[in-house]
Amino acid sequence: MARQKRCRICKREGFIHLRYANLPLCKEHFLSRTRSVVQDTIKKFKMFSKEQKVIVAVSGGKDSMALWHILAQLDYKVEGIHIDLGLREFSMISRKISEEFAETHGLKLHVFSLKEELNYTIEDIVKKSYEKPCSVCGTIKRYMLNRLTYEMGGSVLATGHNLDDESARLMGNILNWEEEYLYRQYPVLPEEEGMVKKVKPVVFLTRKELLKYCEAEQISYVDVSCPHSRGARSLVLLDIMEMIEDKYPATKLRFVKGFYKIREKFAPSKKVELHKCVKCGMLTASNKDLCRFCRIKERMEKNEAIERT
Ligand code: SF4
Ligand code: ZN
Ligand code: ZN
Repeated sequence: MARQKRCRICKREGFIHLRYANLPLCKEHFLSRTRSVVQDTIKKFKMFSKEQKVIVAVSGGKDSMALWHILAQLDYKVEGIHIDLGLREFSMISRKISEEFAETHGLKLHVFSLKEELNYTIEDIVKKSYEKPCSVCGTIKRYMLNRLTYEMGGSVLATGHNLDDESARLMGNILNWEEEYLYRQYPVLPEEEGMVKKVKPVVFLTRKELLKYCEAEQISYVDVSCPHSRGARSLVLLDIMEMIEDKYPATKLRFVKGFYKIREKFAPSKKVELHKCVKCGMLTASNKDLCRFCRIKERMEKNEAIERT
């Protein structure tokens, strides 16, 4: 293995070489730089203040664990929320790791089990659904995280989307010219009626940086994959972006930052009409009486197949 170059700042042994910035750093300078990138992102996009209660969506993966740790280190008022999706061994390990991390670091974690909240696990729902597993799981997670953040009195929901995720998603949205999704792809989405404010504080950090952050801080994270992640389109897009980055370092950062500058061009000409779901009262853009979540629940209760949206 090639030796790491010496730290650009203190000349001590290198811990990581950030190719996109051509910057070799020792462990200590890497950790302080990582935290300042997050701090700068929070400030630049006016994400939240030290007085606000921030809820971190904790999956047990490296991104959300690193995010939670960084925010706590920066003295933000953070609490974690973990949804046990009931995805066999994957969910059991994810929950255990999240709970152990909270205990070791003296952080508050709220755990919700889908089986208890909804009566069904993602596994049960996927078996009855014509939708792709990640699509139905995404709908449920977004709904639950939004509702639970409100119920817990949090004003902001922070997620661990990193630069790799964001660039792959941007590529996917452009390939399909998903104008509405493009407009909503941003590090901060303001609070709207019925929707909490959503932020992505680690959006300018790569997957590799978050992995190395966990390694440096000895943070355990789930390293088994969800049984439904295989073959997901997002993984293909991640690989493609990685190939480009490998040849042309800093492409991901330029791609994403450049898009944020022109994102307003995709603002919808008229506001999407929302109405209250007749069952749960949450706002929905669906053209039916019930929101998508309640429709899934209803179909499960009636033992009917879940249709595509
Ligand atoms: Fe849900 Fe898909 Fe993620 Fe698995 S890979 S947790 S099914 S979104
Ligand atoms: Zn150094
Ligand atoms: Zn509803």
